[in-house]
Amino acid sequence: MINMNLSKNKSIIYSVFKENPNLELDINDILKFIDTAKLAISKRTVYRSIDKLIGMGKIYCSSVHDRKRKFKLSDMSYCEIICNECNDLKKIKIANNDKFKKYIIGNKSFDITGGYIKFYGTCSKCLNRI
Ligand SMILES: [Zn+2]
Repeated sequence: MINMNLSKNKSIIYSVFKENPNLELDINDILKFIDTAKLAISKRTVYRSIDKLIGMGKIYCSSVHDRKRKFKLSDMSYCEIICNECNDLKKIKIANNDKFKKYIIGNKSFDITGGYIKFYGTCSKCLNRI
């Protein structure tokens, strides 16, 4: 594992996501988790840390409801498949995700530190209904 060198606030927020890898969390959910741990961080700091973590590929904006963003942990060992009709979401394990760790383009290399893969389509239940 690469040492991520996150600031204190970022690592607190990142650990909320790591402890809840399958949950979509909005800002209020995150604040609840942080309050429980009795750590005083302002809402503004949480927003800033979220944007930084997104920029680093550690988490991503998974959906937007009523202009409220929800976030989720990035996981490159799984891909998500989402049905366009019923929004059903399934996670599929990627057998060999080593190829996502380093990418060589010509004579330049690129170390991948985070990200996510999503596919959209139609699930079998919805296919039968159409
Ligand atoms: Zn469906």
